[in-house]
This record gives sequence, structure tokens and C-alpha cells, in this order.
Amino acid sequence: MTFNRRTFLGTGVAAAATLSAPMVMGAGKPRVVVIGGGAGGATAARYIAKGSQGAIDVTLVEPTRSYYTCFFSNLYIGGFRELSSIAHSYGKLASDYGINVVHDWAVGIDRDARTVTLAGGGSLPYDRLILSPGIDFVDGAVPGWDVSAQNKMPHAYKAGSQSELLKAQIESMPEGGTFAMIAPPNPFRCPPGPYERISMIAHVLKEKNPTAKIIVADPKPKFSKMALFQEGWGNHYDGMIDWIGPDFGGGNVEVNPDEMTVSIDGEVTKVDACNVIPAMKAGRICELAGITEGNWAPVNGHTMQSRMDENIHVLGDACAQGDMPKSGFSANSQAKVAAMAVRGALTDSKVFPAKFSNTCWSLIGTGDGVKVGATYEATDEKIAKVDGFISATGEDAELREATYEESLGWYAGITSDMFG
Ligand SMILES: Cc1cc2nc3c(=O)[nH]c(=O)nc-3n(C[C@H](O)[C@H](O)[C@H](O)COP(=O)(O)OP(=O)(O)OC[C@H]3O[C@@H](n4cnc5c(N)ncnc54)[C@H](O)[C@@H]3O)c2cc1C
Repeated sequence: MTFNRRTFLGTGVAAAATLSAPMVMGAGKPRVVVIGGGAGGATAARYIAKGSQGAIDVTLVEPTRSYYTCFFSNLYIGGFRELSSIAHSYGKLASDYGINVVHDWAVGIDRDARTVTLAGGGSLPYDRLILSPGIDFVDGAVPGWDVSAQNKMPHAYKAGSQSELLKAQIESMPEGGTFAMIAPPNPFRCPPGPYERISMIAHVLKEKNPTAKIIVADPKPKFSKMALFQEGWGNHYDGMIDWIGPDFGGGNVEVNPDEMTVSIDGEVTKVDACNVIPAMKAGRICELAGITEGNWAPVNGHTMQSRMDENIHVLGDACAQGDMPKSGFSANSQAKVAAMAVRGALTDSKVFPAKFSNTCWSLIGTGDGVKVGATYEATDEKIAKVDGFISATGEDAELREATYEESLGWYAGITSDMFG
């Protein structure tokens, strides 16, 4: 066959039509439903809609109209950001990418019928389902605490009103009062998160209430960027922070939200504000779907498909994938791999080998930013770390300031990658 412009164009159109033709559904476009409009879900919905150019019908189910990022919520608590600066809406995903945004809770998944049931009563059919519901807390993880106590002892591990409450409680502590944090066991959302939060709380108290004390009860002997945080706490907040690891009973904790007391290894302390961060598990909808093993939903790193149902992909904090930390950056990176796999399966577009990356920045004090990060690839067993980097102790102020500036650029870039 020889090509002239006409036959070439004709072939091109035919090829495009073939590429975008649904492979799964008999009629109409293939349907993807995404549950959870956070870091993973918003990215996946956007990349599937954008990449398929309308060939896939994408519905995003998310109960809230404003999503507050947990990333940078510690900076809000520390007074470095306004709450409004970490709020994101779904308008652009709907208007610019044609995503059907449904503000509702998903309350059930019928894997045989391939439908999602909504709290409002509707039902959504899917060819592929993406779950990125984030975390829930393990019942009874901290004796004396359950979610009904979250207004007295906030977790602030889902951002928004909880972050506001914790900030207000810290700012209204009496002079020389005591703040306690109950840190979570591994694995949990954002490994440096509790320690960045301690830094930000110390920053606020140093300015407003310099004789106040901070106690951290921790069940872990080591934590992310530990040497960097400990160095920074010494430099900025010397003598303010008492970190109690498991050797000194940090894992043997009980709280009493009515009395505002914390018991660490049997020693009871009256506190003025208390941040309880319990052990975590995959968002409950994963359990309802029957795709969890233990607390998390195992996935195949090549495609982020559930190991229990190939029509379901699980992203972000909810999945058990291997070496990546549970972070917004990881969720965003995993979402792009899942989006590519879904487009490949439903529209026959090209699929490249899965590659992932993550960096977690933390602010320790004004202009004192540190980071840890790595790249990853998929193996048949897991998502495996390829190589990594971490800020060094003793870095000069200029480098730390540059690291902080880098984090501001990252936040602006990644949130527009998620929400358009
Ligand atoms: C204090 C703190 C600081 C952090 N800092 C950083 C940081 O600096 N960098 C970083 O990369 N990460 C950071 N993280 C981690 C990051 O926030 C999470 O890892 C990330 O949000 C995970 O994305 P996700 O999509 O899994 O879940 P989420 O972003 O939590 O999104 C889940 C969404 O699903 C919705 N949902 C849940 N159940 C249902 C249901 N049944 N039906 C419909 N919708 C549902 C929820 O409303 C929510 O909007 C931080 C976390 C915390 C707590």
C-alpha cells in the first residue's frame, strides 16, 4: 500500500478510533469509578480523563467539597500557612477534564456485579475501580481513646477542622502548661509527620508560651529523619521537648480525655492539650470490598491492581505495596502508574514499566527545611527502593532555607498536578 495524504489521514482516524474503542464494555465508553478525591484519587481521575481524551468515562466519588491537604497542615499549625492555602476544590476536575464529581460516600462494592453503592442511594457501575480512601484508625489502639474523643484529644491526621482544633488548643494552653503527643506505631501515614508537627508546636509555644513543656510518647525506638529532628530540636527548642521512646515506656500508654490525663508506663500526667495519633489501617471501604489482608490492601506494584481483584486498583495510604512510605507524593506517583495501566487495559494505549518517586520535606524551624526521598521500581513481589537521599546533619542555614523553598515549589506543583 502506498500512502498519500488522504489515505494516511484516513488510516490515522481509523487508528485513533481503534485506540479509543472500549475493550471491556460492549457499548458506550468504558467506565472508571474512583473512590476518594485526595492525593491518589484526584491524580488518578485527572490522568485517566486527560490521557484518554474523553474515551473513558471517569467518575470521582468524594464526600467533601473542599479537600484539605494533610501535607503542609503542620505548617498551618506552626503559623507558616493559612488554612485556606491548603484547601482544594474539585471544580477544575469537572470543568477542564470532564470528570463526573459525585459528592457522596461509597458505602458498598459488589465485585461480581462491578457496582459501587453510594450513601445517597445511587449505584455506579464500573469496568475498573480505583480506591484511594486514605486511612482510618485501628479501634482500641490507644486505651481510653476512640473517635468520639477526637474533639477533646484531636488526632489531626485528617486535615481541616481537626487541624484547626489542635492549633486552637495549643494556642490557648495556660502559661507553662503541658502538651502531649501519642505517636503511632509503624506503618502509618507520613513517617516524619508527627515529628514535623512537634517542631511546629514547639515553634508556636516558644513564641507564645516559652515555659510550656512538650511530651512525646512513642512506641517506636527510631523514627524518620530522627537525627535531623533531634539536632533541630536541640538547636531551636532546647529543653522543651521530652521524647519518651519504648525503652522508657513510650509504648505503654493510656489516655483519659475527660480528665485530660495521659498515663505513660503507669505515671499519670495532667495535660493541657493532647494529640492522639492512633495506629492506622486502610480506609474502611477497602475492608468492605473484601480486598484487605490485615490492616492494608495488598497490590501488584506493576499496575497497582489489588492482589485479590484485578478490576480494582488501590492507591496511596490504603495499599500495602512494599518500600514506599505512605505519603501524598507516593500516592500521586502510584496514581500515574495506575492511570497508565487502566488506560492500557481499557483503550489499548501503551503501558511503560512502572517507576515511582517520593520526597518528604519537613520544616523544623523558620527556614530550616530537611528532606528524605527515593526512587522505586516495581518487581513481582513489591515496589522496591532503587536509591535514596537524605539531608545531612550540620548543613548550613543557606542549604536548609533552599530545601524549605524547594518544598514550597513542590506543594504548588503537586497540588496542581492533583486538582488541575
Ligand atoms: C500531618 C501530616 C503531614 C503530612 N505531610 C506530608 C508531606 O509533607 N508530603 C507528603 O507527600 N505527604 C504528607 N502527608 C501524607 C499525605 O497526606 C497522605 O499520604 C496522602 O494524603 C495519601 O493520599 P490518599 O489518596 O491515600 O488519601 P487522602 O489524601 O487522605 O484521600 C482520601 C480521600 O478519600 C475520601 N474517602 C474516604 N473514604 C471514602 C468513601 N468511602 N467514599 C468516598 N470517599 C472516601 C476522603 O474523604 C479523602 O478525601 C502528611 C500527612 C499528615 C497527616
